[in-house]
Amino acid sequence: MKALIVIDYTVDFVVGKLPCGQPAIDIESRIAELTESFVRQGDWVAMAVDLHDENDALHPEHRLFPPHNIRGTEGRSLYGKLKSAYDRFADRIYWMDKTRYSAFCGTDLELRLRERGVDEVHLAGVCTDICVLHTAVDAYNKGFRICVHEDAVASFNPAGHDWALQHFANSLGAALLRGGKPARG
Ligand code: ZN
Repeated sequence: MKALIVIDYTVDFVVGKLPCGQPAIDIESRIAELTESFVRQGDWVAMAVDLHDENDALHPEHRLFPPHNIRGTEGRSLYGKLKSAYDRFADRIYWMDKTRYSAFCGTDLELRLRERGVDEVHLAGVCTDICVLHTAVDAYNKGFRICVHEDAVASFNPAGHDWALQHFANSLGAALLRGGKPARG
């Protein structure tokens, strides 16, 4: 069984408070298309969405990044076509608040995957070298097979993006997919 985890594709991370910018805008259609196709195939889909509270000085990101994805703000909305896809299929997509980089950290993601017999986790979203990376590392340590949709991940840092892709493949044994097919021979 497989599942799709879409990570942090929100207004703040695409064009808002902590933006990836153009590379994230460029994957808008693909990320929505992937979400729709997993839902239509009956595979489990989760939106893993960063959640922060204003002035949370004890949170480790407080010192690292400007405030982003603050509870109750428009910045936490899914961006563009992914929002439309989510609105159409909301009853078949699991919305999951997360407060750390990894979608597994402090959430019930692993329980949800195990109870569905999911053994292959597909990843899409932003940023390739931060939240997607940390989620992939946790998935690896928990024994899931990993597929990263190279055409549906993005980062504000091109070098970090490229490094993370080779790390997924070479150190986590992930399949890199493009158009749903192996991206490299
Ligand atoms: Zn955050």
